[in-house]
Amino acid sequence: MASFYLLKHSAVHTTLLQWYETEGRQELPWRLTRDPYSIWVSEIMLQQTQVKTVLERFYFPFLERFPTLQDLAHASEDEVLKMWEGLGYYTRARHMYRAAQSLQHELPQSVHELMRLPGIGRSTAHAIAAFAYQTPVPILDANVKRILYRFFGKKRLAEKALWDLAYQLFDEEHPFEYNQAMMDLGSLVCRARDARCHHCPLHSGCTAAKTDPLNFPEKKQKRAVPIRRKDIVVITCKNRYALKQRTSRFLKGLWGFIEYETNTCSDEKKLGALIQKYSHFHLHADVYIRHEYDDTYDYFTLEEICKLPLSQADIKIVNMLK
Ligand code: SF4
Repeated sequence: MASFYLLKHSAVHTTLLQWYETEGRQELPWRLTRDPYSIWVSEIMLQQTQVKTVLERFYFPFLERFPTLQDLAHASEDEVLKMWEGLGYYTRARHMYRAAQSLQHELPQSVHELMRLPGIGRSTAHAIAAFAYQTPVPILDANVKRILYRFFGKKRLAEKALWDLAYQLFDEEHPFEYNQAMMDLGSLVCRARDARCHHCPLHSGCTAAKTDPLNFPEKKQKRAVPIRRKDIVVITCKNRYALKQRTSRFLKGLWGFIEYETNTCSDEKKLGALIQKYSHFHLHADVYIRHEYDDTYDYFTLEEICKLPLSQADIKIVNMLK
């Protein structure tokens, strides 16, 4: 069966490779290395974040601070989260940290072993195996999924069926170039709201290109993002400020000023207001200041606060205090 598909898609593979040679983003730093650790860092950062953001603000500073897996394992969680500050989805950083601590020297090579580490799902395991160890396995990130839906003309598929299609189209002779080309194609050509079929190397074999590609896959109903209102109180005493480290799942490990449900602190002096957009809700907060000492919390100077990992909303409050 594999040789049938190889033969069937060999023309597609050829044009895809040619396209990657001229149009692909081969200069991306994580494509110029075979260091499994650096590739792992890039793959985790890229899970929920655009290439541009990772490249310009996070990848190099993180590797400069933690150049090896051992450096990451021996850091404190606060330090790791601080280097992740602003990248969002902090569970990724905490999982990486835990995985680094559980490993002795190096990332494992096998997909099976990689998937046993926290924060590494099947597609990330395949990406690390393909890019660091040249293992002939396809990846299946959001970009690749969209291409598969369109190429095969499917509107809705279960994860297992998508993996089957990923293997059908896969070029096992050039796993590295094929996977990189598919990722580039998804972000540069076969985009979610704009399919540039006449510039696409898959055009001749693509089912959706014969109709309207934007109908594939079926669109999910967009839900309105709810607004959560809160009051945040800066409790201060002798030029130090009260903070607590979050223990709930959302933003776990980050430090923050003290939050209350709205309308509980109308007597305090108002410092300002802020809006912070998260993927599943928008925070609208009024910020107050109260002079008192409450021994429930830890107190820090502004200088010390700037060294702690903070949420974006808390960084806005720090700027108000400055
Ligand atoms: S031909 Fe069009 S729809 Fe098909 S993979 Fe290329 S860009 Fe996407």
